[in-house]
Amino acid sequence: MALARGYAATDASKPLQPFTFERREPREDDVVISIKYSGICHSDIHQARNEWGNSAFPMVPGHEIAGIVTAVGSKVSKFKVGDRVGVGCFVDSCTTCASRDVDLEQYMPGLVVTYNGVEADGKTPTQGGYSDFIVVKEGYVLSIPENLPFEATAPLLCAGITLYSPLRNWGAGPGKKIAVVGMGGLGHMGVKLAHAMGADVTVLSQSLSKKEDGLKLGADHYYATADAETFMKLAGTFDLILCTVSAEIDWNAYLGLLKVDGTLVLLGVPEKPVPVHAFSLIPGRRSIAGSMIGSIKETQEMLDFCGEHNIVSEIELIRMDQVNEAYERVIKSDVRYRFVIDMATL
Ligand code: NAP
Ligand code: ZN
Repeated sequence: MALARGYAATDASKPLQPFTFERREPREDDVVISIKYSGICHSDIHQARNEWGNSAFPMVPGHEIAGIVTAVGSKVSKFKVGDRVGVGCFVDSCTTCASRDVDLEQYMPGLVVTYNGVEADGKTPTQGGYSDFIVVKEGYVLSIPENLPFEATAPLLCAGITLYSPLRNWGAGPGKKIAVVGMGGLGHMGVKLAHAMGADVTVLSQSLSKKEDGLKLGADHYYATADAETFMKLAGTFDLILCTVSAEIDWNAYLGLLKVDGTLVLLGVPEKPVPVHAFSLIPGRRSIAGSMIGSIKETQEMLDFCGEHNIVSEIELIRMDQVNEAYERVIKSDVRYRFVIDMATL
């Protein structure tokens, strides 16, 4: 066991604070990573504040990890000391289940999430990236392209893959009209990725305050959802709508923006059930779906795609001791567009 330092939530109502905990001794198939940058995902806040009702404390959040390999086990072949690597939302998965499909492992029951979970032994708590180092099985470590600015790659490990996967699954590309709801951490990555795939991209934001940024990042159109005319003007427009909002919105109004056979994909996690009228779906053979992160294979594909297209997150680099203030700002949608913690400040 080795002692790690980090920041933890000790219960749902307290700010994060310095915390020391144990990481396992590296095994033969493990990679030891010195964490350099850690992104702040809205899911970190949901879980640190027990908004999903499944939180275990103390909890070190963080599943957008960019770091440097400092040691490798004897059976590790893909990585060596000094490599730039990433770790995303899971660090192990069901390797014995007969139905295991490595392309869809994020949906398998044996998934071991990076924090607020337990390791494959069923008892050791996992702790995340707001910490100085992490020990991860080789198969769950990603290579980060050398040409990208390192600190801005951390958010690709969750925000990036969460948008890339549904864009690929629902065939984003030339001739497809895609809407991204919410210009936050996830949303701004959706704009960049969909644009690079050649789709026609529309941002549906609460206001026009981030319009200039949205157009610069690759959006072709930008509308305010506070304006009722938006819903009349865009009725029946989109092949695909990716919704990153975690608040209650008028779902039936958004479904009305889909073309025949269009799909509304939920990525954000609202607290309450989503009320949908059958007539929002039936007349246009429309669908409503969900999507969760992506497999390791698809995450590597996304990182390579970002390397080729020079795509990274727009970030605000902060010190570790600014994390609680950053949480408040994310809740107010006051971030351009992802906070990343410089772990050298821990
Ligand atoms: P974020 O940075 O806070 O972005 C969410 C955006 O939603 C905001 O920027 C804002 O965009 C919009 N919004 C906020 N409050 C709203 C309201 N009351 N009404 C309408 N729109 C509102 O959060 P994030 O990190 O992108 O995460 C978004 C959600 O995705 C969270 O629920 C998170 O847990 C979830 N998530 C899901 C997955 C997955 O695998 N499915 C992965 C990661 C995160 P505008 O200002 O442009 O309106
Ligand atoms: Zn996340």
